[in-house]
Amino acid sequence: MAAEDFPMKLSRRDFSRLGAMAAFAGVLPKVESQNADSEPAARKLRWCIVGLGRISMDHFMPAVELSKTGKLTALVSGHREKAEKQAAQYNVPSPSIYSYDNYDEIRQNKEIDAVYIALPNSMHAEYTIRAAKAGKHVLCEKPMATSVADCKAMIEACRKAHVKLMIAYRCQYNPLHLKAIELIRSGALGQVQAIESAFGFNIKAGEWRLNKKLAGGGPLMDVGIYSLNASRYLTGEEPGDIKANSSIIDHDGRFDEVEENDSWTMEFPSGIVASCNTTYGANGANYFKVHGSKGTMQMDPAFNYDGMHLTAQLDGQTIDEPEAEQDPRDFTRQADYFADCVWSNREPKTDGEEGLRDTMLMSQIYQSAGLRGL
Ligand code: NAD
Repeated sequence: MAAEDFPMKLSRRDFSRLGAMAAFAGVLPKVESQNADSEPAARKLRWCIVGLGRISMDHFMPAVELSKTGKLTALVSGHREKAEKQAAQYNVPSPSIYSYDNYDEIRQNKEIDAVYIALPNSMHAEYTIRAAKAGKHVLCEKPMATSVADCKAMIEACRKAHVKLMIAYRCQYNPLHLKAIELIRSGALGQVQAIESAFGFNIKAGEWRLNKKLAGGGPLMDVGIYSLNASRYLTGEEPGDIKANSSIIDHDGRFDEVEENDSWTMEFPSGIVASCNTTYGANGANYFKVHGSKGTMQMDPAFNYDGMHLTAQLDGQTIDEPEAEQDPRDFTRQADYFADCVWSNREPKTDGEEGLRDTMLMSQIYQSAGLRGL
């Protein structure tokens, strides 16, 4: 991601404007998709939710309800009863509940503009490609996929179908993360020398996240990706040299298929070195720290759904900014941003190429640690 991709002075008012822009969608260019022939004026982006797990039900679906630009119109689930309950809650008509088997029938449903894919990681590629073939825009959860080849196939399928593909890197739409980027770009920190970041938790046995086939890998794929992605958007550079180690310390059956810990360093072209850790064996770490010639900045917690906290000690300035808005605002912002991309026919900041870059880097991290790449 190039530095210029980031809006340098994005205020809360700018975010409100994003919503307003979507409301004026009628004056913006039409999107080349199956739905382009229906009238976009004053229309909401109509979402089909694929996978009714924690992130969908606890975060994204309530966030769409709060959004001025979105509306839930369809659900895809393997559990009909659960889907019926959610459908009743969100006024989704019964015929718009699909299973994974008849998912391709969303093509015929003119009440769906976009899908939100919140399935186990290795299923992202198949359900993105099937959505693209059905003419629907795609917002896909991170990590984009479990192989570089799958990422490339997703990008190609969406390109061919003229539908948008965005990866749900919610932190890149969070005002405090944008402020952290702005502080670096404005020179307030001076020359950045180093970044530290960590994110992890103590995982329970029985999670699909511990199944290599579904998860693709361990904590790096799930939460380490936040530190990786943050190191890239904070520096605005792409890393060159990568050195990594992986380990399994707890031989209690949880880590028979994936690693428990990953630690890695990335050297960026300017000389900045990022040191990152991720774990499935310990709770607590959730931060980034940036060391510059004029001061230090940290976000702790950095990657939570809410309660993020930015502090900085700079030459002549102290910053102490807890997050003002609470979840599900981050998810609402993300949904609104995607709606704007669809209606104004522009590429999302966190497009498929962004997801592909992280996947290639995670593959390099695994290879450096002596594991199989992605
Ligand atoms: P979850 O286990 O709560 O939900 C997964 C959903 O997939 C469930 O509805 C489950 O029924 C369905 N599913 C279909 N086939 C399955 C199979 N073979 N095995 C297991 N589940 C199957 O998971 P989640 O925490 O909601 O994560 C879903 C995706 O969202 C993951 O890719 C994860 O990385 C991502 N995620 C993103 C964030 C974020 O903040 N952006 C946070 C959490 C999770």
